[in-house]
Amino acid sequence: MKGVESVENVKSVNGMKGSRAYDVIVVGAGPAGLYSTRLLEKRFNVLVLEEDKEIGKPIQCSGLVSKNLDNFVKVDGDCIENEIKGAIFHSKNSEFRLEKSASIARVIDRNRFDSSLARGLKSNILTGTMVTGIEIGEDGVKVKAEPGGKEFVSRMVLGCDGPNSIVRNHFGVRPAEIIRGLIAITKEKDSSGLVELWFDKELLDDGFFWKIPRGESVEYGMLSKDADFAKLEKFFTPKLKGKSYERRAGMIPIGIQKTYFPRTLLVGDSACQVKPWSGGGVVYGMICAGIASDVVSKAFGSKDFSEDFLKQYEDRWKKEIGRSITMGLMFREFLKDIDNQGIEKIFDKIKKKGIDNLNMDFPFASFQ
Ligand SMILES: Cc1cc2nc3c(=O)[nH]c(=O)nc-3n(C[C@H](O)[C@H](O)[C@H](O)COP(=O)(O)OP(=O)(O)OC[C@H]3O[C@@H](n4cnc5c(N)ncnc54)[C@H](O)[C@@H]3O)c2cc1C
Repeated sequence: MKGVESVENVKSVNGMKGSRAYDVIVVGAGPAGLYSTRLLEKRFNVLVLEEDKEIGKPIQCSGLVSKNLDNFVKVDGDCIENEIKGAIFHSKNSEFRLEKSASIARVIDRNRFDSSLARGLKSNILTGTMVTGIEIGEDGVKVKAEPGGKEFVSRMVLGCDGPNSIVRNHFGVRPAEIIRGLIAITKEKDSSGLVELWFDKELLDDGFFWKIPRGESVEYGMLSKDADFAKLEKFFTPKLKGKSYERRAGMIPIGIQKTYFPRTLLVGDSACQVKPWSGGGVVYGMICAGIASDVVSKAFGSKDFSEDFLKQYEDRWKKEIGRSITMGLMFREFLKDIDNQGIEKIFDKIKKKGIDNLNMDFPFASFQ
């Protein structure tokens, strides 16, 4: 893949006393890291370090993304598995449907999508390179990586390294909660265009089950702090129980946490820039990558990489998505508190009043 180099092909970079080979080191080549790199490399010398051997693999994501993604990148046709027009919500005893006449979201293949983000980048991307620690010095950052005990230096580092971020951990910050998302994919054709979600408090205290038609396959999933494949199989009997299916799983960080430190910004899942009601984070990561790259440019412009200066990053991303995350956290707490009768009451209200706003990234936009 153009723009992606294996670790063997890159000259080693010495410690902080050596020449500063990079302006910015991006840790993690997921959507947040790759989009940040795309924006930053127009002005800066960027190095990307990615622990996995292949970008976008293993897939740990449903890839259900709103069309808001088009505001940031062009999604190649071969990444799109299906178009989504709406959703059917199920409680134990009832259901309602929210549907538009045109597509409002897409199901994308995250492996292909992440690869497409990497294609065409001119920066060094070292795959198979796991960052093991960082050191913040007075005039630079040292990033340590394996294999080979390598050390890289730069002026700034972006921690785009997902839910278990080593960059975030360096500063002793932890998400309020980390929950689990599980996915089972079966070989059934389904291009129906409607996602289905099931809420049953007797089975799941804090989450839901889902079905996503992926065109050439169907995805059955589960989001909860208590998610496990036995529960998923039981819920989706007979589709899953005793059958072979492709398994995917991942962690989802939830909460609001500090995202700026000396010479360092966190972007994407490492920064908990995730919708607490659904666990989706691709679009929020893109929004915040745009803000991060602008703040990095300003830091270089004023030669100020201090925590005080970089705080503007957090102020700005909170202006864009902070209210939605806070409302989402309240919704999550509310969901934990109510029982199935409470779910039925909400369903009844929605069925009577309807919902116009099907913006899955900002569903609370009309609430004041
Ligand atoms: C089951 C499941 C389903 C989901 N479905 C959706 C969905 O439908 N829509 C949606 O918008 N979001 C969804 N998400 C969330 C979405 O996957 C994340 O929000 C998104 O991937 C975050 O992007 P990112 O770039 O911040 O992090 P990631 O995509 O996690 O990328 C981080 C990268 O950093 C690398 N890395 C980590 N540690 C190191 C290290 N020490 N050194 C070097 N590299 C490192 C990782 O290998 C990875 O490539 C889902 C999540 C799960 C678990």
